[in-house]
Amino acid sequence: MLPDLRDAVLEANLELNRRGVVLYTWGNVSALDRDSGLMVIKPSGVSYDEMTAEDMVVVNLENEVVWGRNKPSSDTRTHTALYRAFPQIGGVAHTHSTHAVAWAQARRAIPCLGTTQADYCAGEVPCTAPLPPEEVARDYETATGDAIIRRFQRLDPVAVPMVLVAGHGPFTWGKDAGEAVYNAVVLEEAAKMATLTVTVAGPSPEPLEDYVLDYHYQRKHGKNAWYGQK
Ligand SMILES: [Zn+2]
Repeated sequence: MLPDLRDAVLEANLELNRRGVVLYTWGNVSALDRDSGLMVIKPSGVSYDEMTAEDMVVVNLENEVVWGRNKPSSDTRTHTALYRAFPQIGGVAHTHSTHAVAWAQARRAIPCLGTTQADYCAGEVPCTAPLPPEEVARDYETATGDAIIRRFQRLDPVAVPMVLVAGHGPFTWGKDAGEAVYNAVVLEEAAKMATLTVTVAGPSPEPLEDYVLDYHYQRKHGKNAWYGQK
């Protein structure tokens, strides 16, 4: 079932590992086939050295496994919550990359301090509120998704394709699994730069001027984007 999408999700998971944003099995990537409403996700606890496309698991948006011999990632219900809430996205990645986690553990949004971040995210990288205890008791992974969705009530998930879950770590997304992973790697690098900026400038550095932020974001992602080759 969905062999091409399973290949793509395997490749995206291996790319997370190659780019150094996951240790052991501390990360996961999924992709959604919008036509069938089926998601392909990494299996739970299978090491990257041994993982094949046959290990990927196909799940519907009600979190039922429809194909595969393995258990899906323990974060499956967070991924499906995001696909249900954000109809524009086709891939989701989750890591515990060090610098992004540091900001998540500090429960602080990453302000947009420079053009590196502005090229990929139209402003700060938001941080969720803590998860309510009754939601954690009921269904922790869905509660994690719901905390992200609440944080995005007035945000565009296409313009801001990344978030920090307070006390946990980053989730990123994109049009497909590859773009979700790309954004996870960009976020880690932007978080590292922000950490260093705070050590140089103090805890509240000046954010990037709005008009520079806007220029950088629009040249890559605006209606008349002009960055790169035609
Ligand atoms: Zn996690």
